[in-house]
Amino acid sequence: MALIVQKYGGTSVGTVERIEAVAEKVKAFRERGDDVVVVVSAMSGETNRLIGLAKDIQDTPTPREMDVLVSTGEQVTIALLCMALNKRGCPARSYTGSQVRILTDDAHMKARIRDIDDENIRGDLKAGRVVVVAGFQGVDEKGNITTLGRGGSDTTGVALAAALKADECQIYTDVDGVYTTDPRVVEGARRMEKITFEEMLEMASLGSKVLQIRAVEFAGKYKVPLRVLHSFQDGPGTLITIEEENAVEKPVISGIAFNRDEAKLTVLGVPDIPGVASRILGPVSDANIEVDMILQNVAEDKTTDFTFTVHRNDYERTSEILQRVSAELGAKEVVGDNKIAKVSIVGVGMRSHAGVASKMFATLAKESINIQLISTSEIKISVIIAEKYLELAVRGLHSAFELDEAEVVSES
Ligand code: ASP
Ligand code: MG
Repeated sequence: MALIVQKYGGTSVGTVERIEAVAEKVKAFRERGDDVVVVVSAMSGETNRLIGLAKDIQDTPTPREMDVLVSTGEQVTIALLCMALNKRGCPARSYTGSQVRILTDDAHMKARIRDIDDENIRGDLKAGRVVVVAGFQGVDEKGNITTLGRGGSDTTGVALAAALKADECQIYTDVDGVYTTDPRVVEGARRMEKITFEEMLEMASLGSKVLQIRAVEFAGKYKVPLRVLHSFQDGPGTLITIEEENAVEKPVISGIAFNRDEAKLTVLGVPDIPGVASRILGPVSDANIEVDMILQNVAEDKTTDFTFTVHRNDYERTSEILQRVSAELGAKEVVGDNKIAKVSIVGVGMRSHAGVASKMFATLAKESINIQLISTSEIKISVIIAEKYLELAVRGLHSAFELDEAEVVSES
């Protein structure tokens, strides 16, 4: 008998029929003898609909009222799911975030969980009930309703699993696991049996949108085993867990992530003196623009070129800032390119294998793809290339690192 926290996303509870199907599923776990706590999102499209209503009235409503509004989506689902469970002879009780007491800070629309009171939940589980908790919401010290940011139900699920020391936190969604890369780009992309928290964080922050990044961070911090599964197809899904000490021959590369939302800017002919990097990037960060990769070379003469990447939406704004800064610094000119993409190979196996970077570069060279920027971390190598070569690059790397379906030897 296990204690399982299950989180169902918006599409999984998108209609009354689906809510009934989720109830069937939960009931099956109960009949096996497991204790089940369910976290649900709002029915699909509902949160967006509510935000639309708000915008019809006011361009920038106060965050407090936004939270009162958008938290209602989840409240509908918890009640409906409990009805569906009760109808099946599976006693269930719903809780809003404030009823559980999921205590958060007061940062409306992006609140962070501080503490979870598990008393009510434990009482219900003991009495043989399924507990259904509204995802995405909490309450601050003063009793104001807060929400955790878009996609926040994942975080609720993980936080509850951590607080209850659950055996597993299962995230049910509309895909059957985490893939080696986007199957829309590479046909042979394959579901991973297992991935580490660290790898998942890199994959998630690089754009595979299966899980909210904060939820993965949280799960890693509290070592909550997470499993991503399809809501309505049977299968083991993907387990996200800690790295095993002596994992049998892990693949060197676990997955390939990519991101099209990048833009690159270069200030040419910057005087090579102390303080330049901060004088260029200071105003950029003051404008709340997030910088990703940064590259500055050693100067041969007394000037150097300074390159960095930002989100494509911030390209124009950054460019304007740089024009100004460049004039102040006496730099030569500012050039940029917003038709670039970032491709990254990710894998903890990199730590113990040499030659991964050179294999990546050789693979791209074979396809005549020019690498514009490179950055690395312990378990990731990213390159910036022209966007038009993105698919070619991802496919080439996927097969070079033997991730294609057919080439995988059985994991048993
Ligand atoms: N309903 C919220 C959203 O759409 C939270 C969630 O689904 O995780 O962002
Ligand atoms: Mg979601």
